[in-house]
Amino acid sequence: MAISTINPATGETLKTFNALTEAEIETKLALSKQAFEKYRAIPIIQRAEWMHSAAALLDQNKAQYAQMMTLEMGKPIKGAIAEVEKCAAVCRYYAENAAKFLADVPTSTDASSSFIRYQPLGAILAVMPWNFPFWQVFRFAAPALMAGNVGLLKHASNVPQCALAIEEIFTQAGFPPGVFQTLLVGSQKVSDLISDDRISAATLTGSEVAGASLAAAAGKQIKKVVLELGGSDPFIVLGSADLETAVTTAVTARMLNNGQSCIAAKRFIVVEEIADQFQQRLVEKFAALKVGDPAQPDTDLGPLATPSILKDIDYQVTQSVKDGAKVLIGGKPLDRPGNYYAATILTDIPPGSPAQKEEFFGPVALLFRVADLEEAIKLANDTSFGLGASAWTNNSEERDRLIDELESGAVFINTMVKSDPRMPFGGIKKSGYGRELGSQGIHEFVNIKTVWVK
Ligand code: NAP
Repeated sequence: MAISTINPATGETLKTFNALTEAEIETKLALSKQAFEKYRAIPIIQRAEWMHSAAALLDQNKAQYAQMMTLEMGKPIKGAIAEVEKCAAVCRYYAENAAKFLADVPTSTDASSSFIRYQPLGAILAVMPWNFPFWQVFRFAAPALMAGNVGLLKHASNVPQCALAIEEIFTQAGFPPGVFQTLLVGSQKVSDLISDDRISAATLTGSEVAGASLAAAAGKQIKKVVLELGGSDPFIVLGSADLETAVTTAVTARMLNNGQSCIAAKRFIVVEEIADQFQQRLVEKFAALKVGDPAQPDTDLGPLATPSILKDIDYQVTQSVKDGAKVLIGGKPLDRPGNYYAATILTDIPPGSPAQKEEFFGPVALLFRVADLEEAIKLANDTSFGLGASAWTNNSEERDRLIDELESGAVFINTMVKSDPRMPFGGIKKSGYGRELGSQGIHEFVNIKTVWVK
């Protein structure tokens, strides 16, 4: 894919970038290695000061960064501003908590002294997606840099200006040269990078195909990898739920970021007794969404990030309908410039159709009716993914079963799935492995050293 900024709302190419040459990549890798040797010894209190400065820069320039994201990948501006604020929050969270998470852990044994020490690994390669162009990077970089690692970012090819702006933020915040660098390279370079001795580990947020490819290359080199991949999260609504709040949240949970979120609610699993009401309210609310220019503050639904995402979602809907699914609203691209797809609801989804088994990365809700809790859990787990799950009930026995039996990295009861710096984030099954955020996130890229003094 060419490295360029193409406005998804108009299709206009605004800026193109040359990929780094082999010599330029070599210079950056060498700098990264040098930087690590010094940076690992910098006291954590100093790293925290720089991380606080990064947070301040994010807050100070949030309008500019938000506009950049909206321009490059089409997210509604309201969400873009909230994203920059969340990046500042994650920087502050790790600036304030990293010393505690990384402190030696004394452990009683028969040694005269024994403890666990957390030490940085080196340069970590971060392969990142376009959907949350700032957040995905900061949720990796804040803990990784606080732990004393250095970062190399290979961002998605359609958000190069965001990638360069993030490097600039860390530089301006005071981090020494080479501690965080952006590599403008295509995805075909990733295997070579992970094979390089100067890169110690990698993290990838993106599709299953990309994750499997990186994990295979890293596996050959015995290098640690964290994978944050796709999801097809269930949103289960049971009879005792507060229906109005559930429907309103369902719309937000599906439409956030124009439907392009890994933890978006994608499969709506509703018990028969309330299914007619839920369906009617959902259709009404989808019809009321304001579709338009993502740069306008009152826009609810903007364009998809690229023409190929539009093509993919259109194919998935068309094929599901051919297989027997019914369209309740939408069901096609919008007749206007840019990558716009209508807010869509599919129901009567037949087994084996794309809507039953694939991730839908766009503004399409998949509505399933079930008889009871038993069937809801079975259907929710009938997927290769296991990222998040949202379930709605006011019955404590049902709640306990949902928490216990849903196969996912997170279960949210009576609210939508979201990430929070204070809690770990990640998936099981084909949604990936490893965790970001929380104390678990900072421990992914450290050497957990056992120290034993006789
Ligand atoms: P993608 O095509 O996998 O791209 C993600 C990143 O991987 C980009 O930097 C891309 O570079 C690179 N890449 C692509 N193919 C690669 C390969 N074969 N080897 C190495 N790197 C490769 O994913 P996307 O379409 O941008 O993002 C959507 C997917 O990400 C969805 O499945 C979504 O659910 C998932 N996602 C997961 C999370 C999570 O936290 N679990 C968060 C957000 C998104 P180029 O741009 O240069 O191709």
